[in-house]
Amino acid sequence: MLYLALALLFFAFVFFWQSGRQRKAAGLPGGRIIYTDTRGWNKLEKPLFHAGLELTGKPDYLIEKNGQIIPVEVKSGKAPDAPYDSHIYQLASYCLLVEKTYNKRPPYGIIHYEGRDFAVDYTRELESSLLDLLAEMKRDERKKEVDRSHEQASRCKRCGFRESCEQKLG
Ligand code: SF4
Repeated sequence: MLYLALALLFFAFVFFWQSGRQRKAAGLPGGRIIYTDTRGWNKLEKPLFHAGLELTGKPDYLIEKNGQIIPVEVKSGKAPDAPYDSHIYQLASYCLLVEKTYNKRPPYGIIHYEGRDFAVDYTRELESSLLDLLAEMKRDERKKEVDRSHEQASRCKRCGFRESCEQKLG
């Protein structure tokens, strides 16, 4: 079961990576720059898991603040002007898992890039878009083939599926 959940999450992030279309349609939050003090961050040892959603994931840190639990995802590399869609959905899935695990809904999550942190509000719209993506992913899981949904050769160059993918670019 855990392997299935891990596999689902893995594929979820592939879909999240390709999901700019849905994000724009849903008008999701782009993130606001915030200052954070990393001293209060608690590293998470075990992944969070929710059987009903068949979803698991491990935020890099959880922050406890005023009775709230805020997930933090750390990304290496130069900070973009706004968080990437894939990172927003990944963070949203952690917010969802935090809510299911601790019965406390995080008002936002944090994406930590080198030299810049963004707070991404965990809105009902973001949650709804995430659930749509998970449902779409499960539907696609039953299909024999799922077509590539992007035209970006640079993505393919860094992709871990490159060796086995029949639709890679370049
Ligand atoms: S190699 Fe390219 S097309 Fe294939 S899964 Fe990876 S990113 Fe998508």
